[in-house]
Amino acid sequence: TKDSKTIPATLIPGDGIGPEIMDSVVEILDTVGAPFVWDKQLAGMAGVDAVNDPLPKQTIESIRRTSLALKGPLTTPVGGGFKSINVTMRQEFGLFANMRPTKTIIPGGRYEDIDFVMFRENLEGYYAAMEHYVPVGDDPKGIALSTGYNSRAECRRIVKFAFDYAVANNRKTVTLVHKANILKLLTGIFLEEGRKVAEEYKGRVEFNDRIVDACAMQLVTNPWQFDVIVTTNLFGDILSDLASGLVGGLGMAPGANIGEKAAVFEAVHGSAPDIAGKGLANPLALLMAAVMMLQHVGRQDLADRINHGIKKTITEGGIRTKDLGGNATTKDLTAALKQQLS
Ligand code: NAD
Repeated sequence: TKDSKTIPATLIPGDGIGPEIMDSVVEILDTVGAPFVWDKQLAGMAGVDAVNDPLPKQTIESIRRTSLALKGPLTTPVGGGFKSINVTMRQEFGLFANMRPTKTIIPGGRYEDIDFVMFRENLEGYYAAMEHYVPVGDDPKGIALSTGYNSRAECRRIVKFAFDYAVANNRKTVTLVHKANILKLLTGIFLEEGRKVAEEYKGRVEFNDRIVDACAMQLVTNPWQFDVIVTTNLFGDILSDLASGLVGGLGMAPGANIGEKAAVFEAVHGSAPDIAGKGLANPLALLMAAVMMLQHVGRQDLADRINHGIKKTITEGGIRTKDLGGNATTKDLTAALKQQLS
């Protein structure tokens, strides 16, 4: 039986492989009776081609209305003076938390049974991109300078978000990652505020911290020790890609950008122009992003069903796309998954 569709959500197919994998994902969501009523909107090159804007007003207004979006990968327009789509979205909707689960689905790889979640601060740090040159002698660009900043309020908000997630999802430990031994102020206040927040959760969630370089090493040598990780913008950017490499790469990595005014769900990968239009793309990263979206709206039941279906299809069924070492097309995988779920 299908549930009635009651939750308005913005759907952005995106560029390159975006429309192919989005078709697949919407089919799967329909198969399980997901509650979303889609408002289809443009962004990326599709937006530039249609209205000369990579993030059209109409798309922003749609997300403002729905507070919820599933977004395909967008090709970043080169030149033309376009502002970064992601930065605009993060600012517009205050998307302060980037959440990336890392979980082993395919057995037999280098890392079995990995299951942790990383939260990355999404608005501050070095991503403020306040950069300039300083002249040295007769070289006007002799030195390059970049300024990062972290506010106590934002540090508290992201760490608290990670702890609340831990409580709600039965996670035992939050690990805060920093470089407070060198960037004593910039990431020092992240650690300071983190420790204060941890006090509020004492007895419910364990807390520890790691210096980022040691954490990178431990993610490779013993990733099983991690449960929930929370870190600053740049460190999170790098460590979360490292994490996706532990569990099958970009085709298996979903992410969410969560804020007070909206939540935007997407695959971590880009528009993959090298395989676009060939029917070879792996739709699972975007599908897992849709699964996160189902959890976000309280439909853990449907999320579990799809996760189970994915696991059966790619393990017992052995249906895998090329990036996972198989020879299934996007359509083959979609059909097999649908059959598994019906
Ligand atoms: P990419 O992630 O698009 O591709 C990297 C490699 O991974 C390619 O070989 C590609 O074929 C492969 N790949 C990616 N997703 C796959 C999938 N689902 N199935 C099978 N193989 C997959 O990175 P790129 O080539 O550096 O970037 C291409 C464009 O995407 C650029 O314009 C970039 O700015 C943009 N981009 C967008 C986002 C986003 O919208 N969130 C993220 C990253 C890159």
